[in-house]
Amino acid sequence: MDKERIFSVAVDGPAGAGKSTVARGAAKRLGIVYVDTGAMYRAMGLKALRLGVPADSEERVLPILDDTEITLRFIAGEQHIFLDGEDVTGLIRTQEVSNAASKISAIPAVRRKMVAIQQKLAEGVSLTMDGRDICSYVLPGAEYKFFVTASPDARTARRYKELSEKGTLGGMTFNDLLVEMHERDARDSGRDCMPLKKAPDAVLIDTTYMSIEESIDALLHYIDRASEA
Ligand code: C5P
Repeated sequence: MDKERIFSVAVDGPAGAGKSTVARGAAKRLGIVYVDTGAMYRAMGLKALRLGVPADSEERVLPILDDTEITLRFIAGEQHIFLDGEDVTGLIRTQEVSNAASKISAIPAVRRKMVAIQQKLAEGVSLTMDGRDICSYVLPGAEYKFFVTASPDARTARRYKELSEKGTLGGMTFNDLLVEMHERDARDSGRDCMPLKKAPDAVLIDTTYMSIEESIDALLHYIDRASEA
């Protein structure tokens, strides 16, 4: 592939499908930047939790939105997320924050703010960006578009393993996580504003029976083939 060419790789998909791992791995192998947009909604969710503001109350969230500064910085090649100047990268991966992020991301003004930041980040650089609405709304002109998914059981099993390894399960069982996963999927796909949906021109990658390396290979293989066409 022409190293000078600037291009975007947009990756959407539900929670636990492996899209972040795949988008990050592909960026590394392509030597380009990786942007995880979920971290921004998580940071906003964390802010609401800290202030005791219900993440699903548009009325209560709107007044804090204007005062919130969310920035991404790349430190030693890794994305760090800053909330009002504080590096909160290590604080946003709990189940509590996941749920708050999922709720707050349904608020149109929150989405508009985050999408504007994401589009600015993508100007003039090659990157992979993952989220729920990247192919359709954030980077509709992306050169390569993917929808990475997996069965709900496989996605829950991965989340369960990840949380238990980190010791952040907090007493939750596999079934609790499965129920939460379904609720989060329903919220992400069912919201009116920029819902999670496979864009018609996105390539579907089902990672249910694939390893991480196989999933990254599948995505890169497609990019190679499309670049040669
Ligand atoms: O990808 P991740 O699980 O970190 O995202 C957390 C939540 O943020 C998701 O459940 C989803 O509701 C929301 N999100 C979104 N749009 C994006 C990225 C994430 O609505 N582009």
